[in-house]
Amino acid sequence: LVGFTVLIGASLSFLGGYFLSGRSLIPIKKSVERQQEFLADASHELRTPIAVIQTNLEVVKASMDESVESQIMWINNAYDEVQWMQHIVEDLMLLARADSGNMVVQREAIDLNYLIRVVCEKMAPIAGKKGIKFINKLEENLKINGDEKQITQLIVILLDNAIKYSNKNTTIRVIGKNTISGVMVEVIDQGIGIPQDEINRVTQRFYRVDKARSRTEGGTGLGLSIANWIVDEHHAGMIIESEEKKGTKIILNFDRGGEKNE
Ligand code: ADP
Repeated sequence: LVGFTVLIGASLSFLGGYFLSGRSLIPIKKSVERQQEFLADASHELRTPIAVIQTNLEVVKASMDESVESQIMWINNAYDEVQWMQHIVEDLMLLARADSGNMVVQREAIDLNYLIRVVCEKMAPIAGKKGIKFINKLEENLKINGDEKQITQLIVILLDNAIKYSNKNTTIRVIGKNTISGVMVEVIDQGIGIPQDEINRVTQRFYRVDKARSRTEGGTGLGLSIANWIVDEHHAGMIIESEEKKGTKIILNFDRGGEKNE
């Protein structure tokens, strides 16, 4: 589509003489560059698991006469990588749909008090494995207008990150309040925090402060980009406050209407 736009732009510029100056082509060039960068990053991310799968399966192939038991480790390694790739591809597909503008956003009345409690209940066992507890302070009737599936995904991403980047036996507080203009939700962890100079980069696609930690925790580096897209789509706001070794606070602000001003 971008190539097509450039083509039309170029021919209009030719026909109209002055119609599209070089200056108005700059945003298109930037968008093409962004797409190229994204494609390069995505390919790079997928190359590593493919290489690991290949290596592990090559070992199995080279030792066909050995028992399955002795090969199970290599097969399991390959299987883990397949699962991880599946996770990345799902996130990538979601972002691609978001980029194309073809994502259907269903708007309905949602009570965040209920939605957050349900998500916390579902995620409590995952947090529990690290001895992490959720403490909820949610006012009654936290009504917003939005897409239930997407808002659920947004809360899951924030809680999942809070769990991933917290040490054992800490707490995650989730606060929900009505404000003059809408609803505010805060997710506060006592985790490793984010360095000040990296806070505004963590919503970029594939950006990770500590790649190794993200990988061992099962991160794709796409969670906060998806969160950012959902926030934007709901005409809401997301503020990240963080201090290294102290913790992170993510503040979401929803307007009562929740409609995007086009
Ligand atoms: P990932 O899949 O790596 O978690 P995200 O897009 O969700 O990707 O987040 C990007 C990066 O931001 C993470 O890799 C991590 O370095 C940092 N980050 C996100 N949430 C937190 C948090 N609650 N505490 C500390 N660091 C965080």
